[in-house]
Amino acid sequence: MTASNKPPFIWVNVLVFSLTALGAVLAVPLYGILVNGYDGFEWAMFAVFGAASGTAITGGFHRLWAHRAYEAHPVVRVWFALWGAAALQNSVLNWCADHRRHHRHVDDVERDPYAAPKGFWFSHLGWMLREYRRTTEDFSNVRDLQRDPVVMWQERHYLVLVLVMNLGLPALLGWLNGDLLGMVLMAGLLRLVVVHHFTFFINSLAHMWGKRPYSDQTTARDNPWVAFLTFGEGYHNYHHSFQWDYRNGIRWWHFDPTKWMIRGLSAVRLTHGLKRCSEAKIERAKAEQQLARSLHKAKGLSDFEIWSQRLHHEYEHLVEVINAWSESRQRWTEAKADQLMHQWELVQIKRVYVGWKANLLEKKRSWTELTEQLAGLSRAAA
Ligand SMILES: [Zn+2]
Ligand SMILES: [Zn+2]
Repeated sequence: MTASNKPPFIWVNVLVFSLTALGAVLAVPLYGILVNGYDGFEWAMFAVFGAASGTAITGGFHRLWAHRAYEAHPVVRVWFALWGAAALQNSVLNWCADHRRHHRHVDDVERDPYAAPKGFWFSHLGWMLREYRRTTEDFSNVRDLQRDPVVMWQERHYLVLVLVMNLGLPALLGWLNGDLLGMVLMAGLLRLVVVHHFTFFINSLAHMWGKRPYSDQTTARDNPWVAFLTFGEGYHNYHHSFQWDYRNGIRWWHFDPTKWMIRGLSAVRLTHGLKRCSEAKIERAKAEQQLARSLHKAKGLSDFEIWSQRLHHEYEHLVEVINAWSESRQRWTEAKADQLMHQWELVQIKRVYVGWKANLLEKKRSWTELTEQLAGLSRAAA
């Protein structure tokens, strides 16, 4: 597409993004150096506003509303609606309509609104700068959200909420702190620009940089560094494979503060119905993806047929063990909750489960060994 046949600019967006970025790199340091330095309270508010508005996008707009990965008390929904307005990334309704299109048509350059194959700049910011799509909004995929009064309240008062959260609240805090403009620049402007680009990385970087352990059918990647910048949304290959899971980083050590927030709120009953994908399903997806990748590597080898048979055989055995382990774990979980179960029966069920757990570990280890051996041969043959 040449410059001449590109769709026209959406000037409001162009101005918002360029003026806020310019202000953040010029006005914020100049004011700090020449007029009045920033104090600890202002830096603290920068962090608090950043965390609140960032997680309103990842935990609220994204995991709660776009994916319905859990349910939240109205107090939490109002909080997300307010701080989501502070993040200035369009209303819940618009954001979720775009995001559901992104998942449905991921990487389709015509129908995915921020299709990563169109490049870093387009998926990060460019898609919002021009009228790439028809201007009338299509809300046909967010009818469920139109029944949420909090979503519709935010939709009606979006502009006012944006001004209150980005200017009004920082101005009030700044006035109380004795430097109105300093707080507007720090908790308002700089924070807005940082949160903008950190969360935009989910559409750009998280589709470009990292591994694809669950599926290579999409450009989405898992990357702990990106997770660090995006409130935990860097495990994006997992997310695109199991989008209704409230977690993106599934292991306890995965940096996913959005997951911790949702789980923390469930402990005080402000969220409930947290959806998780079963461990067996996750393991099967990983094994299937590894099989496909290994078969692809084996193609270059002279004894492809032998490798193919061996891989299929080992893969099928691995899946059998995953299923047996999963069933034994389910039985153990049920048995533990069963008050009438005899002690000797419990011990028996636990023993079976522990046995399958060890089997699975062993099977996974030999599967990894096999695929690594193949990868080595394929590298040597190349
Ligand atoms: Zn994505
Ligand atoms: Zn998503």
